[in-house]
Amino acid sequence: MSLMPHVTVLAGPTSVGKSTLSRYIRSTYPEVHFSVSATTRPARPGEVDGEDYLFISPERFDQLLAEDAFLEWAVVHKKHRYGTLRSTVEEAMAQGKNVLLEIDLQGARQVREKMPEAQFVFLAPPSFDDLVTRLIGRGTEDEEERQRRLETARIELAAEPEFDVTIINDDVERAAAELVARMGFEPKPQTEG
Ligand code: 5GP
Repeated sequence: MSLMPHVTVLAGPTSVGKSTLSRYIRSTYPEVHFSVSATTRPARPGEVDGEDYLFISPERFDQLLAEDAFLEWAVVHKKHRYGTLRSTVEEAMAQGKNVLLEIDLQGARQVREKMPEAQFVFLAPPSFDDLVTRLIGRGTEDEEERQRRLETARIELAAEPEFDVTIINDDVERAAAELVARMGFEPKPQTEG
């Protein structure tokens, strides 16, 4: 039996469908242990404190920073702070769990520095055009904002060679099966169509 890595980091460009994939994995593969991040972002309707995130105040975040409690942290979309607590990852590892960190690129780079033995997975769109279509399809941004995000996406896509593995998000079930297999779990058979 090969020795599987205990920590897997999943990152990728904005709008690649990372949160949809995570949601799917949460519902289909309860055996996958997600690292619950701390964030200063307010909870969205339906989000549960301690499950989706640890929702904390900026003051509490500062305090944890001062205690050097984070394995990594970043300001995402120039707004809120997000971070992975060392204790969260250490506890999971101590329990022999295979843990998945779904974080942004800035965070992934920090983990690479501190935990080079982790497995780094880049979630990529089938093409750049696909990313553009997703952004436009969402219809939530005006032209200027869309251009800004596309520029960011172009920069983020260039980070792919820094990762150990690339998974193409062409289909959520297939991409999830590939990711869990990489983590050492049994992928579930995919439905037709
Ligand atoms: P959202 O606010 O939509 O849940 O997440 C926004 C972004 O924050 C996503 O790209 C997600 O990957 C990233 N993110 C979530 N948790 C963490 C974390 O602990 N650290 C870092 N660096 N990014 C995170």
